[in-house]
Amino acid sequence: MAWRGSGFESQLVHLIKMKDCIFCKIIKKEIPAEIIYENKTTLAFLDINPVNPGHVLVIPKKHFSTLEETPQETLIEVIKTTKKLVPAINQSVNPIGINLGLNNKKGAGQLVPHIHLHIMPRFEGDKHKLLEGKKTQPEQLKQVADKIKTFL
Ligand code: 5GP
Ligand code: ZN
Repeated sequence: MAWRGSGFESQLVHLIKMKDCIFCKIIKKEIPAEIIYENKTTLAFLDINPVNPGHVLVIPKKHFSTLEETPQETLIEVIKTTKKLVPAINQSVNPIGINLGLNNKKGAGQLVPHIHLHIMPRFEGDKHKLLEGKKTQPEQLKQVADKIKTFL
């Protein structure tokens, strides 16, 4: 077909993905959410199942699924919004720290395929689990580093 591989095709794919996306529905106010901040490019709202009080999700208003898909400028906007929100979260729920999280793709636990940054306030004794590091030999680290660097 004439439009195959065209801008029109990618636009169409984009529209189809957006149609069923729960976060796009929140952006369009089609379903409710505790929205705490929005600007031209991003939206921030409370996670419906927070790991702790004040657990916020920051999303771009344009639908992208993964880090790989999301343009650099969009990621910068998400980080800028996060930076703005953190002091307000600190003042309102008074955590001892904050973890940021981004589950990139299903294999990493991404359930909603609209990129989102988790802002997760931490509290003393909250038992929130982080991934544990594995003891690794320096040679193994070097091998992996060299391999990654060949693709940059
Ligand atoms: P993921 O595992 O994709 O990184 O995280 C998705 C997050 O979105 C989960 O923490 C989940 O609780 C939250 N979530 C899923 N559906 C909704 C919803 O409809 N509204 C809100 N506010 N959060 C949602
Ligand atoms: Zn979406």
